[in-house]
Amino acid sequence: MKPPLRFVAIAAAGLAAACSPSGDSSAQSTAAPSAQTPAPVADDAPRLSFPVACTVGSTCEVQNYMDHDPGPGAQDYRCGANTYDAHSGVDIRILDMSAQAAGFEVLAAAPGRVARLRDGVPDISIRTRGPDAVSGQECGNGVVVDHGNGWETQYCHLANGSLKVQVGDHVDAGTPIARIGLSGQTEYPHVHVTVRKDGVVIDPFAPKLDAKTCDASAPGEGLWTVDAAKALAYRAGVVLNAGFTSAPVTMASIEAGGLARPTNGTPLIAYVRAINLRGGDVQELAIVGPDGKTIASGAQPPLDRSKAQYMMFVGKRPSSGDWPAGRYTATYQVKRDAKVVISKSFSIDL
Ligand SMILES: [Zn+2]
Repeated sequence: MKPPLRFVAIAAAGLAAACSPSGDSSAQSTAAPSAQTPAPVADDAPRLSFPVACTVGSTCEVQNYMDHDPGPGAQDYRCGANTYDAHSGVDIRILDMSAQAAGFEVLAAAPGRVARLRDGVPDISIRTRGPDAVSGQECGNGVVVDHGNGWETQYCHLANGSLKVQVGDHVDAGTPIARIGLSGQTEYPHVHVTVRKDGVVIDPFAPKLDAKTCDASAPGEGLWTVDAAKALAYRAGVVLNAGFTSAPVTMASIEAGGLARPTNGTPLIAYVRAINLRGGDVQELAIVGPDGKTIASGAQPPLDRSKAQYMMFVGKRPSSGDWPAGRYTATYQVKRDAKVVISKSFSIDL
């Protein structure tokens, strides 16, 4: 069991702010409209399609929403904790670095014209580079699309050299503009999308809420198309990664991807990394062997606070020689207020 890890705020500026923490001295003047600025309501907004060629629930998840808390705390549009202070958009995260290497296209969310872009920022985690290395380039490689009537969308942390568009190009909804990368102020592969109207940040999930308000019952359809709203339905906690391995499990090894598969004679370890868990959540993980008996299990004490991500694993070495042949099934559960709110089972045949 590893201690919980929190993400450093994923900030951005440069190409006009993406995830710029308040007070970020590197933010340009266009970064000024932050999550703290009241959002106007407008009826001329574009409809936004899902902006990544991935599938929520299997190859990507929403890591962060926009911050609606005007103070130093953070609340998403549903008054939950799936955000951080002054976060100005939505972060769509792919599973790990092997998925980033395989390539996931970022898609224009609506028709428009490419207004600004940046390329040439390396795909290196700020855990390696340090935040100073991306000062003024927090967005990393980015594209801004102008949709007319003052509306624009911005896409950050794109893969170095992957931009497929140039300033002035027309794009349609769904036009590939780049691939997800690890550029700018980020430590995991994702795309950050900010929506603005006349330079003011708008929450695409709740455009009629001003930036100081949240609503626990907000439907969150917002500016999204019907399909995108369905894919992006709000979830307070979800499993990002789960599997079996024989290798040491760390947050870094899960993030790298490609953990070694167990075989006969090797340790059998089940691991899970969940995101956006809540304070008080209780996690349990157990492996059941072919004979129906539990061979390894564990539980975490209630979380002391919300966690951007959290991993746990249980495992065992074979008592002698090979594992008995058959199917091994792991089950992970999260209980919140004594109710199971997340449950995931996965199996391996040995
Ligand atoms: Zn972000």
